[in-house]
Amino acid sequence: MTEVQLQEFKLEPDSELRFEVESKNEKVVLEVKSGYAELFGTELVKGKPYEFHTGAKVAVFTWHGCTVELRGRTEVSYIAKETPMVVYLNVHAALEQQRVAAEQENTRGPVTMVVGPGDVGKSTLTRILLNYAVRMGRRPIFVDLDVGQGHISVPGTIGALLVERPASIEEGFSQQAPLVYHFGHKSPGDNLELYNTIVSRLAEVIAERCENNKKASTSGVIINTCGWVKGAGYKVLTHAAQAFEVDVILVLDNERLYNELKRDMPKFVKVVYLPKSGGVVERSSAQRAEARDARIREYFYGKRTPYYPHSFDVKFSDLKIYKVGAPSLPDSCMPLGMRAEDALTKLVSVWPAPALAHRLLAVSFAAGPDDHVLHCNLAGFVCVTAVDPERQTLTILSPQPRPLPATVLLLSELQYMDNH
Ligand code: ATP
Repeated sequence: MTEVQLQEFKLEPDSELRFEVESKNEKVVLEVKSGYAELFGTELVKGKPYEFHTGAKVAVFTWHGCTVELRGRTEVSYIAKETPMVVYLNVHAALEQQRVAAEQENTRGPVTMVVGPGDVGKSTLTRILLNYAVRMGRRPIFVDLDVGQGHISVPGTIGALLVERPASIEEGFSQQAPLVYHFGHKSPGDNLELYNTIVSRLAEVIAERCENNKKASTSGVIINTCGWVKGAGYKVLTHAAQAFEVDVILVLDNERLYNELKRDMPKFVKVVYLPKSGGVVERSSAQRAEARDARIREYFYGKRTPYYPHSFDVKFSDLKIYKVGAPSLPDSCMPLGMRAEDALTKLVSVWPAPALAHRLLAVSFAAGPDDHVLHCNLAGFVCVTAVDPERQTLTILSPQPRPLPATVLLLSELQYMDNH
């Protein structure tokens, strides 16, 4: 690969510059020299340098034409004239009409779910639609049900955010006061019962909040989902559609899924087929694992704005750690009146042991294990960086200084090696 330090690109109206930063510890700086451009729906400020680091896969789109400069080494960089942006803009315009109608009729705005297999640009389309909505003065709710590659909190959770300003180019949507629920695994398939339970709960809480926030309610909800669309994955999607009472489902690049949803959804749900962008980059499972790791690192250490987490020891005896899901027994072995699936959402006490090293623990808002723990949202996360069986202590990495709140901690399957 030849080293390119400075590149200038002239973009015609309705085209985009795509580039990727691959090499380790690489930094590429982007600057709009003239004209207007946007990045996944956020306007770029002319003359302002934006930094992108290893792993970034970016498209700078222009409606009116512009000149862009890149400084640093990119793996690929090319201008694409074929993009689905006009189609996406039309979707935004249709949603906007529904918001106007909701305002006039005092009803709720459109609840839209974005679905499709892996690597078709679901998260990107969600971001574009949210950005366009907020640029029109709306306050939409962003829901992320993707427990593997989501954009709210850390992997292994689902969550929601009220979007009050466009996503920052370098840091995404502001993560202030998100509503987050614990799942603890990378795929819904690891505990379908628990996944559906928390999706229903999140939908309930959002419906309640919308009742008290007219602006958010008329602006509507945009839901990003996991890329698992076959078999049980399909059932998970239809359950989420029901739970959130969606009005619109945008299906990216999968005709089979589109037809199944058309067949199975009630008539009032609009199922729309959309092309994927040729720019969406496929990611290997190693890259996905890296992306998960990066999200956890950002949670503790920040991205552009640095955070300074605390590290301290906690006695085993001061901790109440639980995992969700007891081993499943056949119905015939269950106590009377209990289903085998009920075991999957039961809390099981976990005694600290060396196996907890590097695991994430969710800090629940629940007061105790009997306090409908799965229905409580999360205060945040800590990471176990070391276990000392002799001194009977855990070393904890935490965004907050000690002491750890004396609440329920939920064990996640996700691990993070803190070598910051
Ligand atoms: P997942 O299955 O993991 O949920 P997804 O369908 O949500 O994936 P995205 O995360 O939206 O897909 O996109 C995958 C990658 O492609 C991201 O890194 C994103 O930045 C990049 N990408 C999306 N659109 C473009 C584009 N037009 N040009 C270049 N890169 C793009």
